[in-house]
Amino acid sequence: MARHIYVHIPFCARKCSYCDFYSVAAPDKINTFFEALRKEIENTDLITDVNPDIQDTVYFGGGTPSVPDADLICETLSLIKERFNIRSDAEITIECNPASVTKEKFEAYKNAGFNRVSIGIQSLHDDTLKILGRLHDRSRALSTVNEAIEAGFKNISCDLMIGIPGQTKEEILEDAKTLVDLGVSHVSMYSLIIEEGTPFYDRYKNIEDFVDPDLERDMYHSLRDYLKGRGLEPYEISNCGKMSVHNMSYWKGMEYYAFGPAASGYLNGIRFSHMRSVEGYIKEPMKVDVEEILSLEDKEKEYVMLMLRTSDGPSKKEFGERFGKDMHVYFEKEIQSLFSKNLIEIDENGFRLSKKGLDLANQAFEIFI
Ligand code: SF4
Repeated sequence: MARHIYVHIPFCARKCSYCDFYSVAAPDKINTFFEALRKEIENTDLITDVNPDIQDTVYFGGGTPSVPDADLICETLSLIKERFNIRSDAEITIECNPASVTKEKFEAYKNAGFNRVSIGIQSLHDDTLKILGRLHDRSRALSTVNEAIEAGFKNISCDLMIGIPGQTKEEILEDAKTLVDLGVSHVSMYSLIIEEGTPFYDRYKNIEDFVDPDLERDMYHSLRDYLKGRGLEPYEISNCGKMSVHNMSYWKGMEYYAFGPAASGYLNGIRFSHMRSVEGYIKEPMKVDVEEILSLEDKEKEYVMLMLRTSDGPSKKEFGERFGKDMHVYFEKEIQSLFSKNLIEIDENGFRLSKKGLDLANQAFEIFI
C-alpha cells in the first residue's frame, strides 16, 4: 500500500537553460491549475481506493512550488490532510527557489505543517549562477537559507550542481563549507547533464569539450568526502546528510500517489503518469496513462537496481522478506559480473557500489534492466 504522496507544481518564474523537468512560466494559469489539482485530490478514489493507511511522507516538487502564493500551497496541503491519514511525524517537504521564496512564505509553509525544505541553491558563485541562467545570486541564496532557519525549519536540504563550465573544485568545496556552516542538514549534489531539447544542448552538446570528465569526477568525490567529514553522511549516489524519507521510498521501490501534470506515480503494482501539459491537466486532471504493469520479476530487478543507488545497497534480508528468495543466489550471475569488474563490494548483508562503481553506476544498473 502506498504511504507516500508526491504533488507536482509545474510553474517556474523562468525556464533555466539546462532544465528538462516539466515546468512552464505561465502565471495566468496558476489559479485554474490549483482548481484542477483540488479536483484531482478530492476524487482520488476514481484512480484507486484512498489508502486508509497512514502516510509517511508528502512531497511538493516541481517546477517551483515557491512560485505560487503560499495560500494556494498551504490550502492544498490542508486538503491532503483531510483526504489522507497523515502521520503526526510525517516528513512534509516543499522545494523552494531563492528567487521566488520569501521569509513570509517560509513562515506560512511552517504553520501549514511543512517540516522540510529543499532549496535549489546550485552554486554560491555569481558567475556560475549566470551560466546556469538562474535568477538568484549568492547574496539571495544565503538570505534564503537564513530565512528558512528563522522560520523554524531544522530539516533543510540544498542542491549543489557540479561539472558546470568554468567551475573549479575549490569553488564547489567553498560552497559546501558555507552551507554546512550555516546549518543545512542535507545536500543533494547533481552533475550537470546536457539534455536534448534544452538551450544548453545547442551550447554545450559535447560537454567534455567544456568540462574535463576527470575534473568532474574529482569534484564529485571531493564534495562527497568533504560533506562526510562534516557529518553529512552520504546515503545515496547524490545525497548526503539527514536522509530524505520520501526519496528513499522511491529507491526502495515503494508505492506512492502522484498528483499534478507530468507527475508519475506507482499504485497497486502499476506505474502511471499524468500528461505533460498544464492545459491538458486543467481539462482532465484525473486522466493518467499507464506506463507499466510490473511483474514479480520486474519488481525484484527494480528493487535491486534502485537500491544500488544507496550507500547500503540492496539488502539480502529485505529482499528475502519481500520476495522470499536469497538475493545472492537469485542474482548470482549479475553480482559476480559486477564484482569481477570492481563495480561493487559484497558482504553477507548485500552488495553496494564501489568507488569505481559510483563513477560507472549506469553500467552497474544496466545489468538489472
Ligand atoms: S527552477 Fe528548477 S524546475 Fe524550474 S526551470 Fe529551473 S531547474 Fe527547472
